[in-house]
Amino acid sequence: MTVPKRIHGDSFPTPALSVHIRQAFLSCCLLLMALLAQHAKAIETAHFSSEKVSLLPLLEFVHERPGETLEQILVRPESDWQRRDTINSNFGQIDRPIWARVRISGVSSAFTQPLIRLNYPHHDYVDLYLFEHGRLLRHFEAGDLRPFNVRPIPQRTPWFPLDAATAEEQEIYLRIATEGPLVIPLDLLTYTDAAEEEKLLYLWAGAFLGIIMIMMIYNSFLYLSLRETSYLLYVIYLATAGFMQMAMFGFGEQYFWSDYPGVNNQVIAFLSPFVQVTAIAFVLNFVDLQKFGSAMDRGVAYLMLFVLTVMSIASFTVPYSLIISMAYSIALIGVACGLYVGIKGWVLGMKSARLFTIAWFVHLVFIAWYLLDTTGRIPSTELGNQAFAIGFIAELSLLSIAFADKMNQERELRVNSQTKLLDMQMAMNKELDNKVKERTAALEKANRRLEELSVTDGLTKLFNRRYFDQVFRDHYEQSYKDQHPISVMMVDIDFFKKLNDEHGHAFGDLCLVRAAQLIRKVVTMPGAFAARYGGEEFVVVLPKTTEERAAQVGEVLRKAFAQSKVTQGEHEKIMTVSIGVAAEIPTYPGQQEKLLGVADACLYQSKENGRNQVTRSETLGPAA
Ligand code: GH3
Ligand code: MG
Ligand code: MG
Repeated sequence: MTVPKRIHGDSFPTPALSVHIRQAFLSCCLLLMALLAQHAKAIETAHFSSEKVSLLPLLEFVHERPGETLEQILVRPESDWQRRDTINSNFGQIDRPIWARVRISGVSSAFTQPLIRLNYPHHDYVDLYLFEHGRLLRHFEAGDLRPFNVRPIPQRTPWFPLDAATAEEQEIYLRIATEGPLVIPLDLLTYTDAAEEEKLLYLWAGAFLGIIMIMMIYNSFLYLSLRETSYLLYVIYLATAGFMQMAMFGFGEQYFWSDYPGVNNQVIAFLSPFVQVTAIAFVLNFVDLQKFGSAMDRGVAYLMLFVLTVMSIASFTVPYSLIISMAYSIALIGVACGLYVGIKGWVLGMKSARLFTIAWFVHLVFIAWYLLDTTGRIPSTELGNQAFAIGFIAELSLLSIAFADKMNQERELRVNSQTKLLDMQMAMNKELDNKVKERTAALEKANRRLEELSVTDGLTKLFNRRYFDQVFRDHYEQSYKDQHPISVMMVDIDFFKKLNDEHGHAFGDLCLVRAAQLIRKVVTMPGAFAARYGGEEFVVVLPKTTEERAAQVGEVLRKAFAQSKVTQGEHEKIMTVSIGVAAEIPTYPGQQEKLLGVADACLYQSKENGRNQVTRSETLGPAA
């Protein structure tokens, strides 16, 4: 902190001639007053012994009449001067300048640099007149509608040095003209103490602005990586609110626009509603009013957004006092609405609305406290003056947690829906798999059916000739390889043409079916294979079977035919069959047709010999 340069009397500007004349006039007046004072009540005196003295309880006040000068104020009757008998230090907003006076003693004999501090940075015009024995010693100027460098000590708030005092007692006349809330935290204290307090405030403000800065940076990164609008709105809200607080602390005036009187009022007038615009924009996005709010909720929200935006713009032309008084009321309404929205979200089961509601509630409490404090409805305290900032930090911290919580829940939701999607996909895959299996099975069945159809004979259900040729070739091949005997047997029903003629074709068909059944019944050896060769002719292959054994099977078959009768209605018939049997151990591969030819020759022989008999190739002799 810099040591104030203008604290010593020598460095103060030399008063102009008019001031001298005024001083002379004043001296006369004061002399007169001193005489009158014998009968009037005495001005309250604050005794200074290097301990901080709060002057506020001792102050007497008059309201300035239009055009009234210092001289006229000084000759006001004693009865005009009023003490504030209420507990309040804050006057709320008043439209006239106010004068306050107090007598101080012990200042001249103090070892330390005494000063009077008006610990509020936003009054428009502040004038302090220091009198000693009725003589004007000093006139100091401060206020944010004056250039910063008119201040006797370049501090955030008006500090007035008292080191010109030489007598035991001095009188202080303080004039404040301001459009904002009139607060008069006036203290008499040493420069060292004031500097110490200021240091503490810087620490507190540094922490406050630091927290906001960190939150801004953190959320900016989140926005850049996640591209979620909520984060951006939160950053904007933080930025405007932080900037507003900085201006409220008086740092703007001190460091940023010190050469531009009036800018401070403009900045605060603009930001008061604009901070709320950004807050509402964030809340709307955060609690997703679109989803669960009623039409009226949305209507009110957008109306407030509109009104506040208009106010922000209007702040450039409308009087400061009007904007400020409206902004505070609307802040209260806005925060109440935020609270309502939070509770609604909470009731409707939005988890993160809980913390949000608490955050908003805390903020509301602090704003209410601050407003009650600055409008003079409750006793003013240092904490009350900082209530706005404290509430804001509390709200921001809780909001951050609510924010993180919300993001967490949304992530959970995302993960859940992803899992669900995955499950669905798996279920679908499984279903698809089952369908494919089903289809494949059906296809396989159809294929088998098709194959059966292509290898079986429709009437007798025995294998057909085509399939027989194929299987017979394979068996013959195998027998050749193994050098096992293979037998083949040709079976032909006797006089079948006649049977057809006598009993009809349908009965003929039935007889063919029965014949197939008989063959199937007799030919049961493993590997044996029977087929319909054509018409009423059948063929049986017996692998690994000698001709002798095959002839025995043939004989069994012949007898089976001769012993069974086929009946249908009035038709009945006992069929006989002629059989030819041939067998060999193949000497060459692919000679199966030849073997079949021998069997056929044997069959022919059976027919020749009178039918209903079995002929073996062996009995045919070497000619066959
Ligand atoms: P053989 O004792 O010399 O064998 O005399 P056959 O009458 O049995 O022999 P043939 O070859 O002269 O006659 C065969 C008859 O079998 C002729 C044909 O009408 C009859 N036939 C062939 N296929 C079928 C069929 O699927 N159903 C019926 N009902 N008759 C058939
Ligand atoms: Mg025939
Ligand atoms: Mg025949």
